[in-house]
Amino acid sequence: MVPNYQPAQRIPVRGLGSRIWDQDGREYVDFAAGIAVTALGHANPRMVAALTEQANRLWHVSNVMTNEPALRLAQRLIDLSFADKVFFCNSGGEANEAAFKLARRRGNTQFGAHKNVILSFEHAFHGRTLFTVSVGGQPKYTQGFEPLPGGIRHLPFNDLAALKAAMNDTVCAVVMEPLQGEGGILPADPDFVRGARALCDQYDALLIFDEVQTGNGRTGRYFAYEQIGVAPDVLTTAKGLGGGFPIAAMLTTDACAQAFSVGSHGSTYGGNPLACAVADVVVEQISKPETLENVRARADQLMQGLTALSHRYPDRIAAPRGQGLLIGIPLLGSWQGKAGAVVAAAMDQGLWMLLAGPDVLRLTPALTIGAEDVAEGLLRLERALAAV
Ligand SMILES: *Cc1c(COP(=O)(O)O)cnc(C)c1O
Repeated sequence: MVPNYQPAQRIPVRGLGSRIWDQDGREYVDFAAGIAVTALGHANPRMVAALTEQANRLWHVSNVMTNEPALRLAQRLIDLSFADKVFFCNSGGEANEAAFKLARRRGNTQFGAHKNVILSFEHAFHGRTLFTVSVGGQPKYTQGFEPLPGGIRHLPFNDLAALKAAMNDTVCAVVMEPLQGEGGILPADPDFVRGARALCDQYDALLIFDEVQTGNGRTGRYFAYEQIGVAPDVLTTAKGLGGGFPIAAMLTTDACAQAFSVGSHGSTYGGNPLACAVADVVVEQISKPETLENVRARADQLMQGLTALSHRYPDRIAAPRGQGLLIGIPLLGSWQGKAGAVVAAAMDQGLWMLLAGPDVLRLTPALTIGAEDVAEGLLRLERALAAV
């Protein structure tokens, strides 16, 4: 395989709920959920049933025809959100690509060629296509890929004065994560988001929320924007949406959707019946009050456990931060830059977890994780911290 990954030396072969087993039969508590993807855990029986039932009916027809699972899922997402219209694709990067193209096309066709600037924020992550990586705010991901697409400006996150100074009639969109994930688990300040909403209204720019990671119950609401109380014009989501089956969506309003017309954008696999049938079950389960209550209860349990750990290892880790089951643990002192080593030590102790940059550990367990799995994972994390 092309050497763009450095996979762990253990190869998982089976998962059930929030546990995973590798080729040697070693068992792990799963605090990663495939990077915030397997929202309902591994081998969820409802998802398996939906997938196999659809597999026996119809796999793929292309967007030359629509299909029942896609229509059902679109309606479900509309009922759950601010949106009136949905575009399906296969990954978070593709959903953002669609959102940025929609904003550009709206600017071009409704206001003129000058309206093409996309404003985004430092440390943001929006995907790995050339356009989305250029909108993202992490230079390490664009280095060596020049020339990059133009018309993109990066501003400091949560700095309303800087945003105000950068806004003008050439701006077609402002894009942000309500809580920066890959960038280090950094929440947007609600006043900043409200200010961005007002500036977008004033200058006829679209406010785009990238909820690829924060969406689908991850923060304890169905979408993170509900907590802030500010609706976007466009929202992108993926990761947990398919619970492990690749699917993504761009949600928008009737008015904004008109910027696309027949043929102006597309995807061969986007909205295929298999992905939509699985996602329909995932969205149904996540939007149940019990699931979101479990997110908040397990988040409290994790936050308490991690806070206690930060008191026992005050020279190594700081108090946790984040929202719901999207939690960051900043490393301190000589441990800064060593998130990879801690993640490897955790694996040795039977715990799969993530990092968010070199200085922050990241936990994104399944939304359905139980209290016992959380308690066991915390024990293993402590052993890992002691062992590094
Ligand atoms: C993971 C992620 C993406 C990219 O999603 P892919 O499915 O890997 O293309 C985009 N935005 C955010 C906020 C993400 O966390």
